[in-house]
Amino acid sequence: MMRTSDVAVIGAGVIGLAVAWRAAQRDMTVTVIDPSPGSGASSAAAGMLAPVTELHYAERDLLDLTLDSAARYPEFVTELESATGLDVGYRRCGTVSVGWMGSDLAALRDLAEFQRALALTVETLTAAELRRLEPLLAPGLPGGVLVTGDHQVEPPALVAALRTGATFAGAQLVEQRVASLRVDSETVVGVDLADGSAITAGETVVACGAWAALLDLPGDVELAVRPVKGQTLHLSGDPGALSHVVRGEVRGAPVYLVPRSDGRLVIGASSEEAGFDLRPRAGVVHDLLRDAQALLPSVAEMELVGVRTGLRPGTPDNSPLLGRAGVDGLVIATGHHRNGVLLTPVTADGVADLLETGTAPTAWKPFDPLRFSPVRVDREASWS
Ligand SMILES: Cc1cc2nc3c(=O)[nH]c(=O)nc-3n(C[C@H](O)[C@H](O)[C@H](O)COP(=O)(O)OP(=O)(O)OC[C@H]3O[C@@H](n4cnc5c(N)ncnc54)[C@H](O)[C@@H]3O)c2cc1C
Repeated sequence: MMRTSDVAVIGAGVIGLAVAWRAAQRDMTVTVIDPSPGSGASSAAAGMLAPVTELHYAERDLLDLTLDSAARYPEFVTELESATGLDVGYRRCGTVSVGWMGSDLAALRDLAEFQRALALTVETLTAAELRRLEPLLAPGLPGGVLVTGDHQVEPPALVAALRTGATFAGAQLVEQRVASLRVDSETVVGVDLADGSAITAGETVVACGAWAALLDLPGDVELAVRPVKGQTLHLSGDPGALSHVVRGEVRGAPVYLVPRSDGRLVIGASSEEAGFDLRPRAGVVHDLLRDAQALLPSVAEMELVGVRTGLRPGTPDNSPLLGRAGVDGLVIATGHHRNGVLLTPVTADGVADLLETGTAPTAWKPFDPLRFSPVRVDREASWS
């Protein structure tokens, strides 16, 4: 069977679904292909929308992109929720960063200076101020830093709303795996699916996260994406244990706690180079629980509801691959690594602009998909 579309989107995580939604809104016919929509990294993410706290100082281009996307979030959510009638769990809750050691606090104060220089609203907190703000945090924490503007969203709810939004706007979803790209005279003209059917398309968007490196692209193009495994723990308890996202270092390891308004708590996250292995590891569960409990003792009394594992689409510089990859008919939108949920609005808007006008946003120059030398992945191992 052969379908025809203006745009074929490979992957139905937050990125592929948001691209499909935005493209369909601009009257393009869109088909999204995914054997298991929403099952990738997007299902394991904590949903923090924190442009600066997730960042290393050197990543200035990425910082500009994350700040741009964070600024788009409120309107993006309002539009999506009103188009679908679905709640995506968006909250402007702020982030409190804490540390046990004097050296942790010194590092936090340096980060606060950097954040102030970016005109973000940041407050340094004494031990007493921290206790007033979050009374259930461990006694003895010497202080912290509050970033009031950080927000959060619930990734599975965002996936559900984007899927509905894309469908309402006219996009089709095909639950199949893309086996290969269709190429004609060095131009990508659609995709072949694992069930033997095909979709022809004027533009094909690669948005399949960590799996993007497994696609055979024409013109010897290799995408520098690798899977970076992450685990989050999902707990349930009394609402109000925390009012802010809390981040901290315990014994040198970072841990975060993301409270939902109904008492659920997400604890994260590991960062493991384990190929495409998605099995949760007991040692990670132990370490995350121990470190979270060191910050919030009442974690011990909460119900452990589940463990989720996802593969972040990592790149050598932690920044996404966005734009054309030197092949007509092909657009790349992957490699969002730790920030894919945050970067969803800016990615979807930019890809829709590129599809409509043929030109990528000028701010995307640093995110050229071909900026690295090729990386090789073991294609045989990953689909077994
Ligand atoms: C533990 C953890 C915590 C995180 N926390 C945050 C956070 O707090 N904030 C934040 O901004 N980001 C966070 N992230 C990062 C974020 O989850 C990712 O950057 C983002 O989800 C990437 O979205 P995606 O749509 O590109 O990929 P994915 O969500 O992985 O989706 C890719 C999709 O492609 C499909 N696919 C694969 N191969 C094919 C194929 N051949 N054909 C068709 N479909 C295919 C898969 O089935 C999958 O559904 C976290 C990630 C992890 C793992």
